[in-house]
Amino acid sequence: MKHLSKLPNIETTIFTVMSGLANKHQAINLSQGFPNFKSDQKLIDLVSKAMNSGFNQYALMPGNMELREAISKKFDLLYGNSYHPETEITITAGATQAIYDVITAFIRAEDEVIIFKPAYDCYEPSVLINGGKPVSIQLESPNYQVNWEEMKQKITSKTKMIIVNTPHNPSGTILSKTDMLQLQEITKNTNIIVLSDEVYEHMVFDDEKHQSACLFPDLKSRSFIVASFGKTFHNTGWKTGYCCAPKELMEEFRKIHQFNVFSVNHPVQKGLADYMQDPNTYLELSGFFQEKRDLFLSLIKDSKFKFKPSQGTYFQVLDYSGITQENDVDFAKRLTIENGLASIPLSVFNENKLDNKVLRFCFAKTDETLKKAADILNKI
Ligand code: PMP
Ligand code: GLN
Repeated sequence: MKHLSKLPNIETTIFTVMSGLANKHQAINLSQGFPNFKSDQKLIDLVSKAMNSGFNQYALMPGNMELREAISKKFDLLYGNSYHPETEITITAGATQAIYDVITAFIRAEDEVIIFKPAYDCYEPSVLINGGKPVSIQLESPNYQVNWEEMKQKITSKTKMIIVNTPHNPSGTILSKTDMLQLQEITKNTNIIVLSDEVYEHMVFDDEKHQSACLFPDLKSRSFIVASFGKTFHNTGWKTGYCCAPKELMEEFRKIHQFNVFSVNHPVQKGLADYMQDPNTYLELSGFFQEKRDLFLSLIKDSKFKFKPSQGTYFQVLDYSGITQENDVDFAKRLTIENGLASIPLSVFNENKLDNKVLRFCFAKTDETLKKAADILNKI
């Protein structure tokens, strides 16, 4: 190429690769994380109504005010504290744009950003494009527990940001209250910004509670929380999310946001604002997805795959080391092409592509699809 790449080592995202392969081979697609069922008709009607009643021009730069108010109320209801809708909440084009803008607003050349691996794939490129330096901490399969002592040792005078993700994609683990307290303690009296990716906040199982960064006052004071309506309301294609942070941090965020997208899809925002007036729309999600997880796991309990039930997200990781020693990318591809079932190999999210023989399966699917997928897994 005539031009020097700014991201020479970045390849096409695994989600595009595996969904493409699934389509090509007409495989059941449990790879990329999206539901194969419709979102609530009521929400679709509310968005249509918003379009028909004139919400078709630019929304305010930080987002539709009613939606920001609804989000603020949600924080009050769930976590007993809130963000100011005027100054502390911004609606974004999915969590991806929020993550990119948080990183772009704060990361300068040579700044270090601590990232736990396996990590969602947009974190590292967003750091690199800003000249920052990702500092990885590999979590170990099958528990993916954070060793906070290890993290403490990785902090240097150049550490500018720590990215955490709970519930965690791809492992399906969650951070406990003790974890969050440790994170708060270690970053106390520092200028480190915490980017807390909480897109799966409403999918936490077995009566555990989501430990949002906003529940810990000192942590909240230096954290951005990012969230995704696509994940919460089964419409990933609408690409709408949001970001919350204390006023002075949000001011910096908006300097980037206003020139990155300015504002996002207005009728969708208005529809979401109306829909969120009923808290049951998000409060029932954990139960709904726990049933999906339980169905999927009960169907494959006698298979040769090993697993620990996912604690949150709509992903389940399965260890196939009892089946083959094949590399996980090759195995995932073979499973798609030969057996008709697509998944995501975890090594792509790991440091140095560490291969623990683990695949990720998305269970946000109809029961019928989960049964078909389980039939395939049981025969392997
Ligand atoms: N973070 C994590 C952990 C994710 O799994 C995803 C995928 N939904 C995102 C961020 C991006 O979300 P969105 O589709 O809203 O951009
Ligand atoms: N978040 C989704 C996943 O983890 C994928 C999003 C995307 O395709 N970029 O599967």
